[in-house]
Amino acid sequence: MSACDDLLHPHPHVALLPSAGMGHLTPFLRLATQLVHHHCNVTLITTHPIVSLSESKLITHFLAAFPQVNQVKFNLLPLDHTTANSTDPFFLHFETIRRSAHLLSPLLASLSPPLHALVCDVTLISSVIPVTESLHLPNYILFTSSAKMLSFFSYFHIHASKAGDDYPAMLGDVEIPGLPSIPRSSIPPLLLIPNNLFANIFKVDSPKVTKSNGVLINTFEGLEALSLELLNGGKVVEGMPPVIAVGPLMPCDFEKGELGNNQLKWLNEQPVGSVVYVSFGSRTVISRDQIREIGHGLIRSGCRFLWVVKDKKVDKEDEEGLEEVVGRELMESLKAKGLVVKNWVDQGEILGHKAVGGFVSHCGWNSVIEAAWHGVPILAWPQHGDQKINAEVVESSRLGMWVTSWGWGEKDMVKGDEFGERIREMMGSELLRGQATHIKEEARKALGDGGSCEMTFKRLVAEWKMKS
Ligand code: UDP
Ligand code: UDP
Repeated sequence: MSACDDLLHPHPHVALLPSAGMGHLTPFLRLATQLVHHHCNVTLITTHPIVSLSESKLITHFLAAFPQVNQVKFNLLPLDHTTANSTDPFFLHFETIRRSAHLLSPLLASLSPPLHALVCDVTLISSVIPVTESLHLPNYILFTSSAKMLSFFSYFHIHASKAGDDYPAMLGDVEIPGLPSIPRSSIPPLLLIPNNLFANIFKVDSPKVTKSNGVLINTFEGLEALSLELLNGGKVVEGMPPVIAVGPLMPCDFEKGELGNNQLKWLNEQPVGSVVYVSFGSRTVISRDQIREIGHGLIRSGCRFLWVVKDKKVDKEDEEGLEEVVGRELMESLKAKGLVVKNWVDQGEILGHKAVGGFVSHCGWNSVIEAAWHGVPILAWPQHGDQKINAEVVESSRLGMWVTSWGWGEKDMVKGDEFGERIREMMGSELLRGQATHIKEEARKALGDGGSCEMTFKRLVAEWKMKS
C-alpha cells in the first residue's frame, strides 16, 4: 500500500470480545498483539466481573505492555443461576455475556474511530451476530480450538438433527464429509446430556457460524491441512465463511514472569530432554485418587518431571496446601526425582526449556499449539470437552501419542503403573521426537518472515481498510 492509500484508508479499528477462561482469553490477547503489529487500532472489551485471578492478571500485564490498546469495560447484567442449567463458573459466564449482549450495541456504536470489525469468541456467536448485523459491522469469530473441532462444531446441528427427537440418546458416530469418522465416544460428554447449558449453547450456535464474515483459528497448514481444506472448500457445511488460519498464536512476552526461580534453577540443572512436564491446563480438576495414581506413575516412569497439580476449577478457590492434596508420604518420594507445584506456571517458558522432552497434556488446544511451537511430543490424556477431538489431531499428526483406552480423564481412572509405562514410551520415542521437531519447523515457517501468518494478517488488514 502506498502512503496515499494509507491516508485514504487509515488503520482499521478492530474490537475484540473474549469470553471466560484462560483458554479463551490467551489466544485473544495473542491475536491482539498480532493486530497491533500489523498497525490496527485495537479495542479490548473486558467483561466484568472476571471469573479467575489468572485472567485478571493477564489482562493487567497485557494492557501494561500495550498501552496503545484501548480497554472498554463491559459490566454484565447479573445472571439468575437457576435459569442456566450449569454449575460451571466459566460456562455461566458465557451465558451471562450472552444475556447481556444487547447492551453491546450502544457500546460498539460509541467507539471512535468507528469500528471496521468485531472479533468475538466462539461461545458468543448467536447472541453477538444480531448485534453486529444491526450495526452493519463485519463480524469475525475467533475459534479457540482445532480446525477438526471447528468441523465438528459447524457440522453438529446437521448431525444432531439426524437423531431428531431422540437427541442426545441416539446420537451416533459423526461422519463429517471428507474426514475420518469421529466416534460417539469422542463427542464432548456434555453434548450427550440433555438440556445442559453447554449443549444448549453449542446447538444454537452451530448453525450460526455461516452468518459470520470469517472464522479466525489458531492453527496452521503444517498441522491441520486436511480440515482447513475441507472447511474452506465448503465440504463440511455449505456457506462456510472463510476459515482463516492465524496460528500458531504463540506465547508472548507479556505472559512471562510466573516461573519461580526455583523451578527455573531446577530445570537448568536437568539434562537435555530428560524432563516430562505434566499439566492439565487452567480449569481441569483431577480427583484425589487420580492424583495419587499420577504420583506413583511418575515415580514408576523413572523420568524426571515437573508436575502442576490443580485442585479447584477456579484458581481463587484453590487454597489447600500441596501436601494435603498429594499426601505427605507421596510428596516425600516425589521430591527425589522431580518438582511438584500447585500454582500458575509459565507454560511457554517450561515447554521452551531444553530440559523438557515430553508433555502429558489434556489437549486443551492452546497447550497443543504451544507444544507444537516448541516441538515437544505430547502424551494425550483428554479430560473433557473438545479434548478427545484435539487428541486425535495430536495422534494423526504424530505430534504425540494417545492411549484411547484411558477414556475420559474426568470419568475413568488410569492406574499409576500404566501411566508410568506410557510416559517411558513417549520419552523414549525417537520417532515422536523427530516428528515433533518437524512440526515445530512448520510452525516456525508459518510465523516467520513472509510465512503464512504474515500474508494472512496483511490480507485481512487490507480487506478491513478497503471497507472504510
Ligand atoms: N497455562 C499456563 N500455566 C498454567 C496453566 C495453564 O501458562 O499453570 C496456560 C497454557 O499455557 C495455555 C492456557 O493456560 O495457554 C490453557 O489453555 P488450554 O487451551 O491449553 O487449556 P484450558 O485451560 O482451556 O483447559
Ligand atoms: N465450544 C464451541 N461452542 C460453544 C462452546 C464450546 O465451539 O458454545 C467449543 C470450543 O471449541 C471450545 C471447546 O468447545 O474451545 C471446549 O469448550 P470449553 O469452554 O469447555 O473448554 P475450554 O476451551 O474453556 O477449555
